[in-house]
Amino acid sequence: MALNPTPSDLSLSYRVSMPHPTNHRFELEAIVHGEVGYCLELKMAVWTPGSYLVREYSRHIQDFAVRDESGKSLSWKKIAKNHWRIDSRDVQGPIVFSYSLYANELTVRTNHLDRTHGYFNGASTFLYIPGKEAQPIDVTIVTPEEDWAIATSLPEISPKTFRAADFNTLVDSPFEIGLHSKFEFEVLGKPHEWVIWGKGTVDPNQLIADTTKIIETEANLFGGLPYDRYLFLLHLSNGYGGLEHRESCSLIFSRNGFKKRESYEDFLTLVAHEFFHLWNVKRLRPKELETFDYDGENYTPSLWFSEGATSFYDNVIPLRAGLYDARTYLKNLGKTITRFLTTPGRLVQPLSESSFDAWIKLYRPDTNTPNSQMSYYLKGEMVTFLMDLALRRRHENQRSFDDVMRKLWTEFGQSDEGEIGFTPGDLKRTIEAVAEFDLTSFFAKYIDGLTDLPFQAALADFGLQLESNLGQNLAPIHGARLAVENGKTLVKYVASNSPAERAGLDAGDELVAIDGLRTNLDLINDRLQASQPGDQLEITFFHQDELLQTVLILGEPEASQYTVVPLKDPTEAQQKRFYGWLGCALQDL
Ligand SMILES: [Zn+2]
Repeated sequence: MALNPTPSDLSLSYRVSMPHPTNHRFELEAIVHGEVGYCLELKMAVWTPGSYLVREYSRHIQDFAVRDESGKSLSWKKIAKNHWRIDSRDVQGPIVFSYSLYANELTVRTNHLDRTHGYFNGASTFLYIPGKEAQPIDVTIVTPEEDWAIATSLPEISPKTFRAADFNTLVDSPFEIGLHSKFEFEVLGKPHEWVIWGKGTVDPNQLIADTTKIIETEANLFGGLPYDRYLFLLHLSNGYGGLEHRESCSLIFSRNGFKKRESYEDFLTLVAHEFFHLWNVKRLRPKELETFDYDGENYTPSLWFSEGATSFYDNVIPLRAGLYDARTYLKNLGKTITRFLTTPGRLVQPLSESSFDAWIKLYRPDTNTPNSQMSYYLKGEMVTFLMDLALRRRHENQRSFDDVMRKLWTEFGQSDEGEIGFTPGDLKRTIEAVAEFDLTSFFAKYIDGLTDLPFQAALADFGLQLESNLGQNLAPIHGARLAVENGKTLVKYVASNSPAERAGLDAGDELVAIDGLRTNLDLINDRLQASQPGDQLEITFFHQDELLQTVLILGEPEASQYTVVPLKDPTEAQQKRFYGWLGCALQDL
């Protein structure tokens, strides 16, 4: 009996049932056929691609059991938190293992089961056999009710049985099972589907029309659609989120977020973002994500590109698709720049380091996060934007970041050898090849360094400028973020080097009085409006249940909002460049 049989010797198939959906537990049963050897190893992923945090999915497993074909229990033991070893020495025939999986977390990267549906991701659901990840895996779904439908991007090989070509594909193919609405449509000759769970105000006709434009616009950028069929899964709830896959995406959006224009535009950018990922990060990947290690962190400095460039395009694509105009595009740009410039952490954490440390920082925010971190989504978007403008400036709009995306796609996404992971050096060289200028200093300053981004100079080339609200009679600042919870006025965050920090206030403190008078959030804001920088406030507050007092000296006002507006007297060259960029006249803004 071979200890390490060849992959073709083993086959793994699953049966997923949910007999009592309200207990939030999926029941999984798997059969392993083939030459197992002395022991069968099983593992569960600790994370899922696209969401860079170790989530310890195996904590949701209970009632693990193993038997042979005759029903005789087999002995097993746990080797690690996510690793089971089954003693298979005396086993003839297939091995059957089973477990219950608790599923009560409704996010795009976890599992959820209730009376109306079951949603699961491969990484958080299925154990895999280490070394046999390349083997196909079949999944049969047993629904609790006849009218529960099944949606997944995997092919259905027999009724309610789906085949994943390998474990990566299984991880990359979430299932939505239950009472949902399904809308099928065709774009560029390929079938697409919206599957929507939950009640909400979404208009399917508008959804299909607008999605079609997004798909066409992105296909036009990359030169076609690299899949046979694509599935959009949408959960309507109170949350917000998206997770990309090669042939589908999972979205969560506010059930009432479709009627208000601004909120609907946010939804369109979410769709554009996750769809863009089917190229950027699902097929065109950093070297470090070329082969996933499901057992731990997969460190890469390049998420600023995978997420940041995708975020840059999620604002560009709806504009190009005609779903909003240049004014909305620039309004969104101003909001993003505002978030960037009002985050002190931009001067603490370099962009490449933000990507590398995603595993311990971005997904684990605390009260120090704004002071110490800069999101690789946010700064990556800004850096991509600046590179796009630099390319357009140098080549008078004859080249743009689109050319970078296409070159990367051709060389690393669909090369003759298939998908090849790119290194940070590959990325820089490719952008330089399109730009025809040296980006060493740009990368050193803005990607690996902490130099503040040169928005004004870049915008001026296109007849625009960044305008802050500083001239608008702003109140002096205290430097804390306050919120009311259960009637208490709480400090949620204290900015570095702010008056609040100097006064010794701390996140979690409860503010109760100013100058001996009871206070609340409205009264504090009124008081600020009536104050000058340098004014002293005697603050009475609770810190860890202890009543304390301190003196807070108000600081100079700081800009809290930036907008992108036309220069007063743009030159003809600037106007021409603006038109070449956004396709409308500067004076029409
Ligand atoms: Zn993303």
